[in-house]
Amino acid sequence: MAIATATTLNHWIGGRPDDTPADRYAEVTESATGDVVARVPLADPGVVDRVVEAAAAGFEQWGSSSISGRTKVLFAFRELVNAHSDDLAHIITREHGKVLDDARGEVQRGLEVVEFACGVGEILKGAISGQVSRGVDSYSLRRPLGVVAGITPFNFPIMVPMWMHPIAIACGNAFILKPSEQDPSVSLRIAELWAEAGLPEGVFSVVHGDKQIVDAILAHPGIAAVSFVGSTPIARYIYETGTSHGKRVQALGGAKNHAVVLPDADLELAADGLVSAGYGSAGQRCMAVSVAVAVGDAAEPLMEKLQERIAALEIGDGTDPDVDMGPLVSARHRERVAGYVDAGVEEGADLVADGRELVVSGHERGHFLGPCLFDQVKPGMRVYDDEIFGPVLVVVRAESYGEAIEIVNDNPYGNGAAIFTNDGGAARMFEQDVTAGMVGINVPIPVPMAYHSFGGWKSSLFGDLHVHGPEGVSFYTRGKVVTRRWADPSHRGVNLGFPTSK
Ligand code: NAD
Repeated sequence: MAIATATTLNHWIGGRPDDTPADRYAEVTESATGDVVARVPLADPGVVDRVVEAAAAGFEQWGSSSISGRTKVLFAFRELVNAHSDDLAHIITREHGKVLDDARGEVQRGLEVVEFACGVGEILKGAISGQVSRGVDSYSLRRPLGVVAGITPFNFPIMVPMWMHPIAIACGNAFILKPSEQDPSVSLRIAELWAEAGLPEGVFSVVHGDKQIVDAILAHPGIAAVSFVGSTPIARYIYETGTSHGKRVQALGGAKNHAVVLPDADLELAADGLVSAGYGSAGQRCMAVSVAVAVGDAAEPLMEKLQERIAALEIGDGTDPDVDMGPLVSARHRERVAGYVDAGVEEGADLVADGRELVVSGHERGHFLGPCLFDQVKPGMRVYDDEIFGPVLVVVRAESYGEAIEIVNDNPYGNGAAIFTNDGGAARMFEQDVTAGMVGINVPIPVPMAYHSFGGWKSSLFGDLHVHGPEGVSFYTRGKVVTRRWADPSHRGVNLGFPTSK
């Protein structure tokens, strides 16, 4: 193993790298080779006191800064991320494994949130009602919360934190990021870019670690709110623990996104969409399509078209421009996903594409698993019930639209759902009926643009507000309504009655 060349990562506290040694470290691997490329400190809870102290000092200054001052920093940050997008994508590909184009796409979607946050003057505008009573005006403001934190997953190491920090910071908060310990390096580069953009010290911090540091964040009285994105069991835990400590919490969980294919659909489009959304990023996307529900006569031709496309996929090192799908994030995750494929076979599903034996020449220790496709899957099988988070697409067959929507809505997850059809009435019915937060009509991955909000239903989200867009602004601010009167003789005189308008 190439451990000798592995660098030891720092935290980022008070506007600079912090190399406080930790008692424990985790290894970060290059997914395509299996080599250890970095050691990440797993901070002990004491680090949280220090980072909160630095963030609180940053908030003192930033929370009362002018809108135009904040806008300048946000624009500068936008320019820097854009200028460095290729380097950022390479850092992501190295540790995560996704192909470079996909990593560039992730940077782009993160940038769109920064661009939304650049409109801070517009998004923080309050509302005024003049003359609510004689000589009295009333107006509403939104104020920052203070120090807030984000805890993020491995699968989008740049975009998911960017759902949070540009908006939190635009709203005047100081933000502490606890990225995934599996691909943490890019967060430190983002911290450098914020500093270069002119963000005051302490307003953006990075601390690394695992459950210990997360628990310290959830309990710390100096942190007002926590945004979380990750798997459902941890999301539920974060929501329950954070709120029990009096914090505002939004916790986005896992997914099992279904795409219903009706017989009248353009099956070429549906097959393209299912393969792209099922196997892109090796299935490690919270909006990956992992279940196709083929209705009636759609099933046979759809299976054929899926297999043709899967057979043509190139699997390999994500830095190779000819490769469509890279490795999984870790050897452990690869074993877990392959275990699900074994379970699907044992439970009687029909494995029509099997990627378990794939070896990528020259990358024998990389975490590769080829695309897997199951037909004749039924609810109750583990490949259907659990979020696998790998390149495994399962097909469930349904007799009718009614049966299909029942399958989708009975599933405990409700992140995204899609329908492929050319029937506008059926599409509208689906849009109304489906119990998911993000709906695609002939669009397999309906990820909302930054000026809408992103979030699921049911076990895919704990809390009230979705991330980014208008709901992100609501999450990172609290309302204040001012009722104002200047000297006006009509209001003189003692009156113990409840105030009403005159
Ligand atoms: P994860 O839940 O294992 O980890 C997420 C974060 O929680 C990491 O920072 C990790 O260090 C921390 N963590 C892990 N175990 C913990 C524990 N016991 N206590 C406290 N903190 C803990 O998720 P992951 O494997 O990094 O990411 C994949 C998951 O994220 C999938 O389930 C995927 O669907 C989900 N995800 C959801 C969305 C969404 O928008 N709903 C987006 C991206 C990813």
